[in-house]
Amino acid sequence: MVGFLYISVKKMVLIPKPKKRPWIVKNTKKVWGREEDQAFYKSYRWRRHKEDYLIENPECVVCGRMANTVDHIIPIRLGGSRWKWSNLQSMCTSCHNSKTAKESNR
Ligand SMILES: [Zn+2]
Repeated sequence: MVGFLYISVKKMVLIPKPKKRPWIVKNTKKVWGREEDQAFYKSYRWRRHKEDYLIENPECVVCGRMANTVDHIIPIRLGGSRWKWSNLQSMCTSCHNSKTAKESNR
């Protein structure tokens, strides 16, 4: 009985899952940029850094509403500093999204 279970589990694992969904990957790349950037923005160190910055600079630099994200003035992929506060600015989600969209359209 145990042997039978093992075999059926093994068979289930071997069934290939359709992992690739090209339309989703395309959208993600446009919004988030390169994969390394994505890993950086998910890192614990960055989230802590961002929280510290938002406590000191709680307003969106564009519209003055409550900011919930920190943007790099010079993007990391263009050589901007990841950690220096002089390269950071607080932004709300909608202003940050429109900035990101403009940058990836270039
Ligand atoms: Zn804003």
